[in-house]
Amino acid sequence: SAKIYYDNDADLSHLKGKTIAILGYGSQGHAQAQNLRDSGCDVIIGQRAGSPNYDLAVSHKFKPTSVEDAVKAADVINILLPDEVQGDIYRDSIKPHLKPGNVLMCSHGFNMHFGQVEPPQGVETVLVAPKGPGHLVRSEYVKGGGVPSLIALGEGSGEVTRQIGLAYAKGIGGTRGGVIETTIAEETETDLFGEQVVLCGGVSELVKAGFDTLVEAGYQPEMAYFECMHELKLIVDLFYQGGLSYMRYSVSNTAEFGDYTRGPRIITDETRKVMKDILTEIQTGQFARDWILENRAGTPAFKSVRRRERDLPIEHVGRKLRSLMSWIDAKEV
Ligand code: NDP
Ligand code: MG
Ligand code: MG
Repeated sequence: SAKIYYDNDADLSHLKGKTIAILGYGSQGHAQAQNLRDSGCDVIIGQRAGSPNYDLAVSHKFKPTSVEDAVKAADVINILLPDEVQGDIYRDSIKPHLKPGNVLMCSHGFNMHFGQVEPPQGVETVLVAPKGPGHLVRSEYVKGGGVPSLIALGEGSGEVTRQIGLAYAKGIGGTRGGVIETTIAEETETDLFGEQVVLCGGVSELVKAGFDTLVEAGYQPEMAYFECMHELKLIVDLFYQGGLSYMRYSVSNTAEFGDYTRGPRIITDETRKVMKDILTEIQTGQFARDWILENRAGTPAFKSVRRRERDLPIEHVGRKLRSLMSWIDAKEV
């Protein structure tokens, strides 16, 4: 089983005298930067001007500079920009200013694993990835806790860099929750697989198919929305608290019997075979190439699917029903 590091396994003195540049003051950037500063580290911010995130950094008493200037002034550089822009920004504004001895970091391995961020000679790499969104990384730290995180040493990187990575993980509060050792390949491939097969792709299609089946059979769309989408939250909350067993303990015996006898007919051997195919596309880099090329073309297919999906009947009926439930913090995009 996995190696897990806690507070006593990490020493903040490995960051002493080092300047940490956080590039991007978004979800992860704002949280990691503030936590590190509160842990006594020397933190600077590279964030483009003229955006709300720039103003946020200023309001938090940082003096953000350009990405270039932050890299020039730093020893440890963490790229916390959106994954799809990291490659271009790395080539244009980061790599030319890296110096031997610098440590290059990230919180998701996509670009390092798929060759979009390749460190020059003398620069080592380490990933530290909180397993939660930035606002939680910040709020747990402020409460004295921390979000469990991952650490992965880049190819060819050594023990000094691991110590710096562990110190960084301690600085953001990660070692309070536990820091699991992984590799950049494992972090990247499992993250992509989870979001494609289960979390985003799988569950969205499951919900849509269930909704469509009821509506096509003549049931009212409002009923289909409640049964196939709205109630999903109740089930997921039970998973989150106590796994499959607690969900099955909490629902009716009728629901539990239906789960055991009908669920395996939905996720069949054929579905499991497709999951393996999707994993292979991730491992071979085929998915990464598709996504990088799509971005290079200005995301035409991506934008068109997004537009079509926003206009589905389930989205229209959902918008109407959510407005009737005042306790829901209803969002529109
Ligand atoms: P966000 O989208 O929240 O923030 C991105 C930051 O980059 C913003 O400050 C944004 O500034 C800036 N930025 C965006 N586009 C550009 C550009 N073209 N040029 C310069 N700056 C730009 O990103 P996240 O914090 O969500 O993600 C950062 C990294 O952390 C990613 O690698 C992600 O995979 C990883 N991660 C994210 C998690 C999460 O829960 N969000 C969890 C774990 C890892 P501006 O306001 O100017 O657009
Ligand atoms: Mg992901
Ligand atoms: Mg029911």
